[in-house]
Amino acid sequence: MIRRITNARLREREGLVAIDLDGKGRIAAITGMPPAAQARSDGAVDEIDAGGGLVLSSFIDLHLHLDLAYSLDLVPENKSGTLVEAIGLYAVAKKDFTPQSVCERAVRAIESEIGFGTGAIRNHVDVGRTAELRLCEGILAAREMTRNRIDIQIVTFPQDGVIRDPGAPDRMREAMRMGCDVVGGIAHYERTPTDSQRQIELLFDLAEEFDADIDCHIDETDSPESRCVEYLAAETIKRGWQGRVTASHVCALASYEPVHAAKVITLLAEAQVHVVTNPGVNLHLQGRFDGYPKRRGLTRVRELMAAGVNVSAGQDCIKDPFYPFGTGQMLEVAHLLVHADHLSSRPLIEKAMDAITINPARSMHLDDYGVKIGGRGDLVVLPVDSVHEAIRCRPRPLAVLKGGLRMNK
Ligand SMILES: [Zn+2]
Repeated sequence: MIRRITNARLREREGLVAIDLDGKGRIAAITGMPPAAQARSDGAVDEIDAGGGLVLSSFIDLHLHLDLAYSLDLVPENKSGTLVEAIGLYAVAKKDFTPQSVCERAVRAIESEIGFGTGAIRNHVDVGRTAELRLCEGILAAREMTRNRIDIQIVTFPQDGVIRDPGAPDRMREAMRMGCDVVGGIAHYERTPTDSQRQIELLFDLAEEFDADIDCHIDETDSPESRCVEYLAAETIKRGWQGRVTASHVCALASYEPVHAAKVITLLAEAQVHVVTNPGVNLHLQGRFDGYPKRRGLTRVRELMAAGVNVSAGQDCIKDPFYPFGTGQMLEVAHLLVHADHLSSRPLIEKAMDAITINPARSMHLDDYGVKIGGRGDLVVLPVDSVHEAIRCRPRPLAVLKGGLRMNK
């Protein structure tokens, strides 16, 4: 158990500090370090000398698909590069997946995330027609195997739709009983706008049944005709689910004409709907029907942030038919986010860091998140002295702590 981190730099405080952890792995004290002490550390085994490096609460990956991780070579090549081709290819391939094979790939991805400093993940597990509940079994086993190393929320994700896959509600219900935490969705993937709305209503029915949050894949397309997210926000208000709903992707918002986009953004803020963008995957999958100029595919990140919407950024995919890259390094996700929506001014670089730390903590209701007295000792120590340098250099952490225990070598 690490009890003290010395010579640490914090985001919102000048100078260096020492962070003391109590026996339960929580932050007990944060004290300024006098200049004389900055030069050396006594080298105790329960102490880490951050050497002037930045200490943050561990990164959070708010949108990930662990059952897909490292499946790229198990699935025929996605020649068009589109979302729809990937869904079709994966539907065939996953028929052969066993809980054991899913668990092994998931644990490998979880370990990669931990190595880069991730302390919590919200994972969407496929409970679609050909996945049945085998993938869910594998992911639940992976969570169990790593439960002392990372926190994982699991979302029941109906990959093949809900109206067009009539068995989906029962599979989602069973997955919630097996231990999943959050109701998932894929509203834009239904056959008609009416069916998309019916799906959203069903998701809220399930959320009410289990008193659960919702995290719905929504408007993951460049088409300005895809207008599911306004219905999700309206239903959030109608059902009194403010602060408990996350809209994942919301790409189409970037293609709405400005007046309608402004209306939708105001509505999302009013409904306190969280938004998660996945910059690498959105850049990769969207714009596939464009010539030039080619759209970037992400939602209106800066406009949503400016309107007070809680926006996070996720990894989404690690080497799968949807996206052949991805390592689980959240600093790379922040780096891509900065490029994709011009978050390059000093205040906006800070907001890019918020998108992989404090913002997803709000979406996951992690109240004890943060480098503060009583906060969890889930910390990442980086060998750089600022947020800007962290995102620019994307270094391996010097240390990754979970409840004060060291997770990396
Ligand atoms: Zn996703």
